[in-house]
Order: sequence, then C-alpha cells, then structure tokens
Amino acid sequence: MNSSLSVYNSLKGEKEVFKSLVSDHVGMYVCGPTVYSKVHLGNCRTFISFDLIYRYLNHLGYKVRYVRNITDAGHLENDADEGEDRIAKKARLESIEPMEVVQRYTVDFRNIMAKFNALPPSIEPTATGHIVEQIELIKEIIAKGYAYEINGSVYFDVLKFNKDIPYGKLSGRNIEELIHNTRTLEGQSDKKNPQDFALWKKAEPVHIMRWPSPWSDGFPGWHLECTAMSRKYLGDQFDIHGGGMDLKFPHHECEIAQAESINKIPPVKYWLHANMLTLNGKKMAKSTGNNILPEEMFSGSNTVFKKAFSPMVVRFFMLQAHYRSIVDISETALEASEKGFNRLLEALQTLKNLTPSNSTTEFDFKSWVARCYEAMNDDFNSPLLIAHLFDAVKFINAVANQKQAIDANDLHDLKNHFDAFFYDVLGLNSSDRETTKDDSQLEGTLELLLQIRNKARASKDFETSDLIRNTLSNLNIQINDAPEGSSFKIN
Ligand SMILES: [Zn+2]
Repeated sequence: MNSSLSVYNSLKGEKEVFKSLVSDHVGMYVCGPTVYSKVHLGNCRTFISFDLIYRYLNHLGYKVRYVRNITDAGHLENDADEGEDRIAKKARLESIEPMEVVQRYTVDFRNIMAKFNALPPSIEPTATGHIVEQIELIKEIIAKGYAYEINGSVYFDVLKFNKDIPYGKLSGRNIEELIHNTRTLEGQSDKKNPQDFALWKKAEPVHIMRWPSPWSDGFPGWHLECTAMSRKYLGDQFDIHGGGMDLKFPHHECEIAQAESINKIPPVKYWLHANMLTLNGKKMAKSTGNNILPEEMFSGSNTVFKKAFSPMVVRFFMLQAHYRSIVDISETALEASEKGFNRLLEALQTLKNLTPSNSTTEFDFKSWVARCYEAMNDDFNSPLLIAHLFDAVKFINAVANQKQAIDANDLHDLKNHFDAFFYDVLGLNSSDRETTKDDSQLEGTLELLLQIRNKARASKDFETSDLIRNTLSNLNIQINDAPEGSSFKIN
C-alpha cells in the first residue's frame, strides 16, 4: 500500500507515517462499550471517530479487520478494582438477569450506531464469550512471574514488571509518581501493592456473575478481556488500538503491561485516542444533569435543545471537529452544522443534474482532489476535508448558474470524488432529508384531500366525501370531524 497517511501515535506523542505490519492489511482494535446503560453521546463520538478511520482505511484499499468488543462482565463501578460489577448492579436494581441487561443495551447500542451510519465492526467479541481465553492468559502471565494469587484472586505485579519493562509508557506516568499517588484502601484489597491490578477476582457470595477457574469461582479483571480478545483475533502485534482519551490510564496502560509481560514485544504499533465531547461548555455527566442521550436529540424530547437534530446532522457536526480535539455541542453549533449539511445535500443534488460544457473547466480539479486526500492523510483531518468540499460546492453552484464551466471528463470525476468523500469516507447519507421530504409531500396531499372533502360536504356530495373517508381509512389514515374543522391522523 503506497499512501502517505500519517497518524498521531499517542505512544510517541507525535505524528508518524502509517505503515501496516502486513502490507495491504490492517488490524484495528477499539475498546467498545460497557453495556449497562444507554449509550452516552460522548461514547458515540469515539465510535464515530473510529468509524471515520475505518472507512478511510477501507477507502485507501486496505483490508481491515476491525475488532470492537462488548464489555459484558468485569467492569466494576470504579475503574480500579473496587465496587460492584456495573452490569450486575443494574440487574440487581431492576430485578432482572445480568444477560437481560447486556442484551437490552447491546441492542440499543447497535441501533444508535446504525442511526449514525457507523459500519459494524468485523468482529464484536464479548468478555463473557472469552472467559476460557482470559483464564489461559492469566496462567501465562503467572508462568512468566508477573502475577500472583492471594485468597482466590490474581493480581498483576506492576512493580516486578516495571523492573524488567518500563510501565507507564502510554500515559507518561512513572512508577514513583504512581506509588506516591495511589491511596492504600485498607482492608479492601489483598493486593501486595496498591498499584497492582486484578486479573481475576474471587466472587463474593452475593456476586451473581461468576465462572469457575483454577483460583476461585470469580470473574476476570476489566483490563484482561481486551488483551485476550485482541491477541486472539489480531495476533501478538497489530496495527491500531483505539479508544476514548479517558481509557489511556489505567485501562490501556494495563493492556500494554499484560501483553508485554508475556512476549516482551509492544502489542500495538499505533495507539489512537479520540477526545471528548462537552455540552454547553461543560463536561457531560448524568449526576449534574448536563447530559443528553442520542435518541433524545433525534426526537427533540429533551430540555437541552429547542428542536430535534437528525443523526446525520449530529454526525456531520462531530466530523466538523478533528477527532483529537475537544468539541462542544450547543444549539448554535448544531444549527450551523444543520445549515452546512443541507448545503452539501443540495450541492449533491445540483451535481447530479449538471450539464458539461465544451469549454475547459474553470476549477483546478486535480489540485482539489489532492487537497482532499492531503487532509485525510494528515491524521484523518475531516474538518479540513469538509472545508474543501465546500470549496467544490461554490464551484458546483457557479456552474449551475452558468457562471463557470466544467467539461464532461471533469464532471464525471467530480461526481465520483464528491460522492466518495461524502458517502464512503465521511459516512454521511441523505436519508434524513428524504424522509422529511416524503413527510411534507404526504401531509400536503392529505390537506388537499381534506379540502376537496369539505367542499363536497358543503355541496352535499356525500358520495365523494365518503369515498375519500373510506379510501383513507383503508390506508389506516383516520379523518376526524370536529366543530373547529376536520383533521387527519396517520395510524
Ligand atoms: Zn479495552
């Protein structure tokens, strides 16, 4: 593969030329959701960012194996090793099976991602489906001497690991700092050192999610599943590991330690992290009420915004920021995105109907295409690509108004490139708009039928008025006659 793609590698803190381990192939692992509640809008941003990356690698011609896990066990309330399992807690509160919680929120997550037009990953493995692999991995780490068992639980020995291989490479934390900053939680843990982390936890009698293991009936530590599953599906070394910025520490740092403790080689060539989303200038959090669910945005039933915003407008809004920058969501920003998105959709339509002229193209088409690729090759700079698309929109509109010209060849190429960037790379589509258009056409037609029926009734032409009422009724459209006028209801 001969592309000039460069990516910002969080491990090095700089941009690097992207070269896959196996030519033409890319292995990419992204930490997926913990399915204990409805997916957060901030999480959606992470997955939309990696959808953009996945789409662009595909567009460049790579065969990408994209693995994104579903965490359905082992993620405790505290990202360290304390507290109740998030899924078990929800199951307890709602008196349902943990797997009902998992099923409900996995389905919700997939529905929302489909609305955002995010492509499904190649493999979507679950933690509970890989208990055997996780137990085998723990055995390997113990055999290498980097983990120890105490009272049925197994912990990773961070200090011992750090003597042989430096710990903290990704997050830039050194071990002394960690020792200094970690509180000892008296009586809450069997760990030798507070910075050690759990690979296996013995289940308390009340803990309902448990599996047999050589050490105890228990459950895997949260960081373990990603190492077990990425190794299984992508090998000991793979190209890209992604996730939200908040996962750098401890989650990704622990993943690196687990993998390196076994074979001493870095498991991942490029670590990519997507930044967070804020709402009206503040961090989104359920506890403060500064929070909104994706479906509340789509339906408009929320107290944060005055109107509904479609999934494509929200996606477009997110792609107007670089995936590594913090982006703030607000009514004004969304409205501006909506206008911009509609301009792009109109240009797509105009482009379809453009006619070429005999004179030469008055637009440096080749350099425009090069600039679009340059933007995406520069660490997936989608806001810059979108700015270039708007340059083309100006030209498209000028051609439509016969102020500028395009020849047949360039018109053909412009259509292909514009479509490829809009649909394939940015993953946008025009389905929202088509639905809105259909709705308004249907409503207009029904209003006309009501007017005709009112006229018929006024002139006592009951044959016509009944014909309209009965035909609509057969189509599940009800006419209601009231003193203030007739109205219709689509069932
Ligand atoms: Zn993970």
